[in-house]
Amino acid sequence: MSAPQDTSVQYLKGIGPKRAKAFAKVGVNTVEDLLYYFPRRYEDRRNFATIAQLKEKEVYTIKAEVLSVKERRSFRRRGFSITEAVVKDASGILSCVWFNQSYIKEYLKPGESLVLYGKAELYGTKLQMTNPEFEEVGPEDEFLNVGRIVPVYSQAAGFSQRSMRQLIKGALDAYLSKIQDCLPFDIRTRNNILNLAQSLLSIHFPESEEAHKRAYERLAFEEFFFFQLPLALRKLNKREKEGIVHKVEGELVEDYISGLPFKLTNAQNTVIKEIKADMSASAAMQRLLQGDVGSGKTVVAMAAAMIAIQSGYQAAFMVPTEILAKQHFEKIKDQKSRIKTALLTGSSDNKEKQKLYNEIKEGKIGLIIGTHALLEEAVQFKNLGLVIIDEQHKFGVGQRALLPKKGANPDVLIMTATPIPRTLAITIYGDLDISVINELPPGRIPIKTMHYAENKRKEAFRLAREELEYGRQAYIIYPVIEESYALDMSGAKKMYEELKSGEFKEFKLGLIHGRLKELAQDKVMQDFKNKKIDLLIATTVLEVGIDIPNATCMIIEHAHRFGLSQLHQLRGRIGRSNLASFCILVSSAKTPDAGARMEAMVKYADGFRIAEEDLKIRGPGEFFGRRQHGLSELKIANPLTQMHLLKKAREEALGLVKQDPRLAERAHAVLKAGLLRRFPEYEKLIMVG
Ligand code: ADP
Ligand code: MG
Repeated sequence: MSAPQDTSVQYLKGIGPKRAKAFAKVGVNTVEDLLYYFPRRYEDRRNFATIAQLKEKEVYTIKAEVLSVKERRSFRRRGFSITEAVVKDASGILSCVWFNQSYIKEYLKPGESLVLYGKAELYGTKLQMTNPEFEEVGPEDEFLNVGRIVPVYSQAAGFSQRSMRQLIKGALDAYLSKIQDCLPFDIRTRNNILNLAQSLLSIHFPESEEAHKRAYERLAFEEFFFFQLPLALRKLNKREKEGIVHKVEGELVEDYISGLPFKLTNAQNTVIKEIKADMSASAAMQRLLQGDVGSGKTVVAMAAAMIAIQSGYQAAFMVPTEILAKQHFEKIKDQKSRIKTALLTGSSDNKEKQKLYNEIKEGKIGLIIGTHALLEEAVQFKNLGLVIIDEQHKFGVGQRALLPKKGANPDVLIMTATPIPRTLAITIYGDLDISVINELPPGRIPIKTMHYAENKRKEAFRLAREELEYGRQAYIIYPVIEESYALDMSGAKKMYEELKSGEFKEFKLGLIHGRLKELAQDKVMQDFKNKKIDLLIATTVLEVGIDIPNATCMIIEHAHRFGLSQLHQLRGRIGRSNLASFCILVSSAKTPDAGARMEAMVKYADGFRIAEEDLKIRGPGEFFGRRQHGLSELKIANPLTQMHLLKKAREEALGLVKQDPRLAERAHAVLKAGLLRRFPEYEKLIMVG
């Protein structure tokens, strides 16, 4: 018999080609996949609750015999059917009802024994179970389906729970002895981790809670380990290559810093020190800079750029939007720095582009600020020494990797205002070093955030008007440009027209959105900056980076349409000076999710806290998205609740890679095969010589 990873499920008893196809749909192709098809939950069927014990609102598993089954129409709702079974055990009788599932009556026959799982609810004065899950059990089921902790699976390939259990038990019996443990022996012993065969057996058919816990920990550790291993390999690969030794002390960077109109915060100073240490070393810098919105990441990045330039290299600064690129460009010009700076975006005109390309290639330009346009093939550097990527979460992994390839192993600084807890960051961005700016510039007044229902919109407008009367500026944000009837949303365009001649007619209004041409966007932003516009109606083009300190008020319409991190980013456009600011979220959405987001926004100002809440609400897969490879593959491990396992897995992965960077040792053969089965694309990581 061949190994489980080499055997198609089709060869298991009870599965033919048709069912094999159905299994493939849920990612189960081989016997190994089937063994990794973990239960969705468990039922403790060692001791059943008795009907007499049931209490309202609690969930129970009971074993009972069917007395009678009948179906009736609902009196209250037309076209609604109710199937009712009366069941009994030694302690009493109970009614179970299912709504609109008439097929159920075919499955229930008086005299049969059932295991039922569901919540006890009060109906009138009597308890009943509503829509319980159930299984028929006979004496022959004693071993797999009752009298033990029983696995319950997500439905697959049309198998009932009982056949699923049988199938998996059969596969375990036949293949357990063929299973090779992918985790090396020393890692298992060091971390007191159960072997794979035992773990797979216990995750499906645990003998006890304790046995389940051990199995679960082992399998979660394994997932984390396979997630960390490629990161560790990548980190090592990068460190091995020779990078650039920059001259970190010099006039350019010192003049830049002393020329700023403010003193750097302690956190900014610390981070600049960390960056200097990286840039002066020969290994290439791979650093992630996390800092809340408004914490002053840009000046830190600019200081790094000065270091590269004073060392005779070029620096490239990539940002996700044209507005932001322009803003950075203007700012560095305002600061009268002595370096030659250029701006390159998608809508720069062709002649200008060509000229820039030449100048960049000849090394005439020191600092190039731009959007994705920097990634184009025509952009070639003379000697690219530093890559800065702002708002990294707006780029994909692939895009982030492209820019550094335009130089010979340049230093890389990646910045994000969607911070995550440091311990988590270290592990998720396992191939990067992490710096944190954990304080805001002095004198900032916390933004007051309020949540208004839609019928209080007028009040929100009134508060905004007051702000404008004081000579401050304000934003109103809409999720869409055009009005949407389907989603019942007003759009930025229409509201601009309406507000201009209505609520805000005595003020100067501006409109900005992604469909405006670059020049038009520029004009609006310039006008807003120069206070020729008091109130800016905008879409999420403003989400990242925009820095207009005199804006002190933001109203976010249809706020439930935005994610939590996005709301925080938007809100970060205000509160950027020593003036008091406020943000009003307008939304009447009633879903629990929307409620949780609004509440978090009102309660927390700190981006790290917000990110933690966002992670909790959305879960890691959604939160990090597909941008962060490997996380979405986690099936049972949860980085939020199993931080300790994740940390251990990371340490082990780093240690192993240091000792055997090509996974070439015999003791690591099974591991290597396991890694490549999961992530075939990592072959080249291991092969790099
Ligand atoms: P972010 O971290 O969100 O990118 P920015 O770099 O845009 O933040 O900085 C926000 C604002 O704070 C800018 O106007 C910037 O000039 C200002 N700033 C940065 N550092 C300091 C500081 N140490 N003291 C006062 N203001 C600062
Ligand atoms: Mg920024």
